[in-house]
Amino acid sequence: MQVYFSNRFPKYLEDFTYSAMDFLGVSNLRGEVRIRMVRRLEDDCYGSCLGNDREVDVQIATTMMGEPISRTNKLLTVGHELVHVRQCLMRQLYIDAKGATVWNGADYSYCEKSVERSRGLPWETEAFALQQSVLDNWYRYKKTEDPRRINI
Ligand SMILES: [Zn+2]
Repeated sequence: MQVYFSNRFPKYLEDFTYSAMDFLGVSNLRGEVRIRMVRRLEDDCYGSCLGNDREVDVQIATTMMGEPISRTNKLLTVGHELVHVRQCLMRQLYIDAKGATVWNGADYSYCEKSVERSRGLPWETEAFALQQSVLDNWYRYKKTEDPRRINI
């Protein structure tokens, strides 16, 4: 796994990214990931993920509706997008030659445009379900790293 961070990518987010990739098993996968911070994403999203089973581009927004996005929300977004990175690199989620969205071998193009959208697509359900665990794992790791705790 190769990871490339954009210029001036915050150090705390970079550290978190490595921890999250270990936690999610992304570090062991083959492929390239490029992560960059952007001032604003289309449709005022927190993050975006675009790629295939070889290379994935992730964007993390720093503002939404003109307001800065909190540190916690940026951490959650990185965790969320890295779940999508795993889905792409493991080819659980991909766009086929006809442009159809395929999840675990099933065509979801129809669902994507219909009622399924509001109920949550399976790849989004997985990403939302895991993003908090990724962050909790990071906080546990930070606690054990804190020298005041280690020296007691
Ligand atoms: Zn998502």
